[in-house]
Amino acid sequence: MDCLFCKIAAGEIPSTKVFENDDVLAFRDIDPQAPFHVIIIPKTHIASAAEITTENSALVAKIFEAAAAIAAEQKLEKGFGIVTNCGEEGGQTVGHLHFHMLAQRNLAWPPG
Ligand code: AMP
Ligand code: ZN
Repeated sequence: MDCLFCKIAAGEIPSTKVFENDDVLAFRDIDPQAPFHVIIIPKTHIASAAEITTENSALVAKIFEAAAAIAAEQKLEKGFGIVTNCGEEGGQTVGHLHFHMLAQRNLAWPPG
């Protein structure tokens, strides 16, 4: 399958990893929107948040466990934001479920 984040998960495209376990990978965003900007993905392909089911939703819990571990490791005591963009109007540009983890600046609400 021609999926950028599957290729990153397989190590076929290089990334700057910040966290990895059997199910989840987190790496630095190539175009950071905050001083700290990491992309967290399930290693298996799920197209978007619209494709989460009872069969695969345990991976979402794994992603949030990873986020908490990353926050502790990276000492993000002041907080962080987690965003998933879904579909055209949601601003999704890569068709593999991913969560942006942003920190080290004041994050605007609502997102632009
Ligand atoms: P989205 O627009 O929500 O689908 O997010 C896709 C994100 O992937 C964007 O923030 C991009 O900067 C990021 N991105 C695209 N290609 C790469 C890459 N090769 N390595 C790291 N991040 C990437
Ligand atoms: Zn994929």
